[in-house]
Amino acid sequence: MRELTLDLGERSYPIRIAPNLLSDNDWPSFIKGKQACVVTNETIAPLYLEAVLARLQGWQVSVVVLPDGESHKNLETLNTIFDQLLEDNHTRKTTLIALGGGVVGDMTGFAAACYQRGVPFIQLPTTLLSMVDSSVGGKTGVNHALGKNMIGAFYQPECVIIDTETLTTLPPREFSAGLAEVLKYGLIADVPFYDWLEANWDGLLARDPELLAEAILCSCENKARVVAEDEREGGRRAILNLGHTFGHAIETATGYGSWLHGEAVATGMLIAAKLSSDLGWIADAEVERLASLLQRADLPLNPPAEMAAEQFLSLMARDKKVLDGRLRLVLLKALGEAVVTDEVEQAKVIAAIEAVR
Ligand code: NAD
Ligand code: MG
Repeated sequence: MRELTLDLGERSYPIRIAPNLLSDNDWPSFIKGKQACVVTNETIAPLYLEAVLARLQGWQVSVVVLPDGESHKNLETLNTIFDQLLEDNHTRKTTLIALGGGVVGDMTGFAAACYQRGVPFIQLPTTLLSMVDSSVGGKTGVNHALGKNMIGAFYQPECVIIDTETLTTLPPREFSAGLAEVLKYGLIADVPFYDWLEANWDGLLARDPELLAEAILCSCENKARVVAEDEREGGRRAILNLGHTFGHAIETATGYGSWLHGEAVATGMLIAAKLSSDLGWIADAEVERLASLLQRADLPLNPPAEMAAEQFLSLMARDKKVLDGRLRLVLLKALGEAVVTDEVEQAKVIAAIEAVR
């Protein structure tokens, strides 16, 4: 088993990575009270709920099965978790257990942050994206009709248990979307990891279990390092949003769900890389290198044809990183060195968007 700790003082927690951890690991010992509530969705329940419930004998357990999809990541669906907890008389000592991808994890974490002013929760991520990104770091929340992840809280889990065996059932598009976030860590902060990813890309695409566990470990280490420095995104944590400002614009323009988050981030990272090379910060060849990796993973290289650069700009103006009306972008000062800047001329941003269309 691979293990690391996200170091946040008294809120520190372990992240464990290995096959079959849902069944084999002592993760239920993180449940301190007698009650627990497993939150999952209709796709994941038939696959993994039984294995989880088998570990929870002796606890008073409720189960909430949410409808599947980003379109259900809202306050209305969140309320069904509260309904169940209250109907089953869950107290302040209950523990919520998120079994699923980022949608289930974000909603369960937010429910845990709110229920009776905060109860503990455990992350059991089952998508590659949730293993390397959303389950680690404590951002929780739901979408609002006017913006993605606009209602939420910083709230850390008790532990993150990554059972890599669950990746065997993940659909190919979802798997590739997760790989986009894996590449992100190399681009923003870890050139040796980026080189390693490129060298092992075929094996990773074939879902080689050892390579995957290593890639997940390196990704979580990178994320943990950034979060430990800046838990509530006062500054440096924003570098984790490489490609996300452009990506969120694509997700919003196309309606949540038609583009996967990781797919939008992939195209967004390519735009950010192109802009970085236009500024003379990274070599042109790095843009090609990234495009080739994305393409080999069947990730999209171009934004939707109908999306004009102006539409990008107007949607990006609503980004959470906008400060005093100035658009702040995460770009690459060098490969492996992300920076947040508000000093790029709009014409250059437009040119980079046009260049990848
Ligand atoms: P997701 O949760 O929608 O899961 C993707 C699909 O895969 C779903 O249909 C799901 O039911 C299915 N699935 C999950 N595990 C499976 C498995 N093992 N086998 C078969 N099918 C499986 O999407 P996601 O990509 O995991 O997460 C995206 C969400 O995460 C977005 O809402 C995004 O905003 C959020 N996010 C949050 C953070 C954060 O820091 N909190 C970071 C990144 C993304
Ligand atoms: Mg992301």
